[in-house]
Amino acid sequence: MPDVVLETASRGRVALSPEQIASLRAKVRGAVCTPGEPGYEKSRTIWNAMIDRRPGLVVCAAGAADVIEAVKLAREHGLLLSVKGGGHNIAGHSVCNGGLMLDLSAMKSVRIDPAARTARVEPGVTLGEFDREAQAFALATPLGINSTTGVAGLTLGGGFGWLSRKYGLTVDNLISADVVTADGTLVHASAKEHPDLFWAIRGGGGNFGVVTSFEYRLHPVGPEVISGLVVHPFSAARTVLPEYVRLVAQAPDELTAWVVLRKAPPLPFLPTEVHGTEVLVLAMCYAGTGEAALKAVAPLRALGTPIADVVGPHQFTAWQTALDPLLTPGARNYWKSHDFTSLSSEVVDVLLDYAGRLPSAECEVFVGNLGGAINRVPVEATAYPHRNVEFIVNVHTRWQDAALDATCVGWARGLFDAMTPHATGGVYVNFMPEDEADRTRAGAYGPSYERLTRVKKTYDASNLFCLNQNINPAA
Ligand SMILES: Cc1cc2nc3c(=O)[nH]c(=O)nc-3n(C[C@H](O)[C@H](O)[C@H](O)COP(=O)(O)OP(=O)(O)OC[C@H]3O[C@@H](n4cnc5c(N)ncnc54)[C@H](O)[C@@H]3O)c2cc1C
Repeated sequence: MPDVVLETASRGRVALSPEQIASLRAKVRGAVCTPGEPGYEKSRTIWNAMIDRRPGLVVCAAGAADVIEAVKLAREHGLLLSVKGGGHNIAGHSVCNGGLMLDLSAMKSVRIDPAARTARVEPGVTLGEFDREAQAFALATPLGINSTTGVAGLTLGGGFGWLSRKYGLTVDNLISADVVTADGTLVHASAKEHPDLFWAIRGGGGNFGVVTSFEYRLHPVGPEVISGLVVHPFSAARTVLPEYVRLVAQAPDELTAWVVLRKAPPLPFLPTEVHGTEVLVLAMCYAGTGEAALKAVAPLRALGTPIADVVGPHQFTAWQTALDPLLTPGARNYWKSHDFTSLSSEVVDVLLDYAGRLPSAECEVFVGNLGGAINRVPVEATAYPHRNVEFIVNVHTRWQDAALDATCVGWARGLFDAMTPHATGGVYVNFMPEDEADRTRAGAYGPSYERLTRVKKTYDASNLFCLNQNINPAA
């Protein structure tokens, strides 16, 4: 076997001898693979097919000991290091070219303590896997809307979904985490131990170390929730969208309703003549059932004359996977995202203009409603700083054919630019594409940035963890 030549973080190269690779294999409980070996393609393949990178070496960790070995190896040789949880990040930082990829996706343990209402979750767990374990006890914590997303990256950036207006962000429900820091030490971070690190990993992304275990607070949810979709023709959007904005401002925290503007997929409950035409979809979930739930969703369901209304009691786990068919891995994707404190009629005009000329059948504009419990957390409590945001507008550009790259990316940027004068300037770190490094400091981290640089200096002064929305260590 020849030497394995790897990229370093300083754009140099280092050769590891066959003996060094054999020694690594002997130490690691999981798998070590080089290009072409079994497991390599699976590890390097991530959700966004726009990202096609080839690491020089992959360590598929089975536990914290393997993570420590990989971090020590990277540090000793100054290797370019990427860290993969669920592989969903749009920017694709979890996979590097030529360096060492630490793939955590095999670390799948979830342990629920139903009496204490807590969960211990390893970093390879997906949202769907976490939900299934917690729902065995009718418990849940706020997670995202696509069940194949990884809990690790989602949590480290903030994390929000159908339960967040009631129970806060995912990070607001994080009790503690085990973190392997840049020197290869495993530390327990919580409000009492390494509180600065605990603050930073709640929104500061993967900048501070590799999390090998997350501990979450759980809440009674399900097994059924009132949830579902209401589909309107695009011709009604000019009336329905402003009414949606008005109604969600009055909604109880239990109710979360989002809007999706897209071409109708061939859903069985939609007439065939609607398939492929532009529609406005109201997607809603009330964190409960019964009279209060039906009363809360009634005003949204009463809007206009929908093509279809499939809101009703659904298993929470089923609702959490309902949008998965639209978000399958392997497509080309480019996202742009803006935060808003309110959605003015000017923004509505822009959204409807661009949604009326979608560049592919799979593109969508998505309006997420936040607020509620998320915004009652003081801005300085966690590194996630966007505690005044009521709406996130995401431009989800998605297509299959590389020949459409320029058209789709251009459309997304055009919509983004048209919204910019009305937005806060902030952006959720987990929605940033790889070409937005200029938004990292002020947009993603904002008022948290200076403190983040100090924590970075304490735990990763050499910036070993640089493949992320990167924070420079304080001078
Ligand atoms: C289809 C889709 C739907 C989404 N919906 C939502 C949503 O509803 N709500 C929401 O909040 N977000 C949502 N997101 C965004 C999601 O939160 C981010 O993509 C997130 O980064 C995914 O985490 P991951 O572990 O799958 O990603 P990865 O790409 O594996 O990881 C992202 C980054 O996190 C860091 N990282 C990962 N694991 C670790 C670890 N154990 N320790 C240290 N650093 C680590 C690394 O820097 C890595 O580059 C969605 C994304 C997609 C693609």
